[in-house]
Amino acid sequence: MTSRRVAIVGMFLESNAFARPVPERGFRGFLYLEGDDVSSDARAEHPRVMSEVVGFYNAMDRLGPWEPVPVLVTMSGGGAAEHVFFVDTVAKVRQGLAEAGSLDAVYLCNHGAMITTEEEDGDGLFFAAVRDAVGPDVPIIATLDPHGNVSDLMIDSVDVVVAYRTDPHVDQWERGEEAAELLHEVWSGMQPKTVSVRLPIVPPNVSLFTDEGPFADMVAMGEQRVTDEIANVSILGGFAFSDTSKNGLIVIVTSRNDGGAARELARDLADLGWENRDRFICEATSMDDAVALAVATGEDSSLPSRVFSDLGDNTGAGGPTNTLWMLEALHEAGARGVLVVNFRDARLAGAAQAAGVGNSMIATFKGDDWDRDGKTTYVADARVLALHDGPFVGRRGIVAGKTLYCGPMALLDLGGVQVVVTSRAAVGNDPVYCEALGVDLATVRSIVVKVRSSFPVAYDEFVNTENMVFVDTPGRTSPMLQRMPFERLPRPVYPLDTGFEWINPL
Ligand SMILES: [Zn+2]
Repeated sequence: MTSRRVAIVGMFLESNAFARPVPERGFRGFLYLEGDDVSSDARAEHPRVMSEVVGFYNAMDRLGPWEPVPVLVTMSGGGAAEHVFFVDTVAKVRQGLAEAGSLDAVYLCNHGAMITTEEEDGDGLFFAAVRDAVGPDVPIIATLDPHGNVSDLMIDSVDVVVAYRTDPHVDQWERGEEAAELLHEVWSGMQPKTVSVRLPIVPPNVSLFTDEGPFADMVAMGEQRVTDEIANVSILGGFAFSDTSKNGLIVIVTSRNDGGAARELARDLADLGWENRDRFICEATSMDDAVALAVATGEDSSLPSRVFSDLGDNTGAGGPTNTLWMLEALHEAGARGVLVVNFRDARLAGAAQAAGVGNSMIATFKGDDWDRDGKTTYVADARVLALHDGPFVGRRGIVAGKTLYCGPMALLDLGGVQVVVTSRAAVGNDPVYCEALGVDLATVRSIVVKVRSSFPVAYDEFVNTENMVFVDTPGRTSPMLQRMPFERLPRPVYPLDTGFEWINPL
């Protein structure tokens, strides 16, 4: 068997149009790997790169001789990519592919919901540039996050799209492996035929879980209906906050050689989604009720411990990881046994380091200005309980085994409320952020996370999943979509508009 040469490229960003744009340093500081650094990271014991890339490498290593030709893989979180950096990155990818020599395939590892400060289809332009660089005959296979907003340009530019099938995303590794396996099939002569249909539904992200709910039902049906003819079923709920005209829940079915089977399945899946359109809504606990619950939980040890998800500041969805609402309300209410994880404030982390462990300080939390009428700080007396400089290795949940770096961090005690302060935005979805600072999570009564999806798999050692509470807080990631200032979404669209008809084009 000849050694196959496969280029690896990716620009992974879930853009929240209401969050601040992501400049070059936002990518370079998060993940920016060029050339052989991609391969060495993907094969490292504790990689930093996305798990689908690790899974892809693992399967490719297993399936036969191949030569990775890594060009560039970068990742960040937040708002739109600054256009200048996007253009520069695309140019680098083009150049890398042009210099790569003869290629047998390209593996693309994007998120799918990237906008730039000037373009709403960042991923489409990226995919099209890769296709243009390698020509029509080189197979391109792409993995995507199911929160990607997929354009026709994206689908038309690649041979197969493989989206994760779980939310929280615990199957990234497997989808990378699947991409590698499908690539080998293509090399053996399989001709993928893709059929897609986009629905006028822009689901709030809390309706996209895959354990239960309308999205879970679609994913389950897709899996049940897979036959030998069907190579892949990818269903993407999309990311409402990207606010693009291509937003909309999309079904993408790829069949082996025959488009007929794909068409029938895609049609039925879209029908199921449309029948359930009224179920794509957000239900959450009011902030007042959540605070009262946390106060009661702190006072009454017979009540179960809880996790509160601060929906308006979901780090993974572009939340700045520093809204003040929950911290302020819980502290003012005198709640006990509360731990907020994580709050991003590099200056405060530095002040805590300067104060030193065991010492008192006046902590000024500098928070996001969204809906705050200029009140962007919260000041409290604090004691420094612990300090850490990282990095460390994830222990549990979707980042287990991965290298995590959130910069200098501190554990502050405000009296009743403790706060894990990090220098960089870090999704508080692994107990290790607290444990690195000496916290015994078994003793915490209420854990407050700025995470929407991946926290149950991180904290279910300490809190039963039925005691995890979604809190309706203000912010740039509020799933109460009617509150958000959308400008570009296609209309009419569920759940913002209701009562209109839609004809399935399949
Ligand atoms: Zn996602």
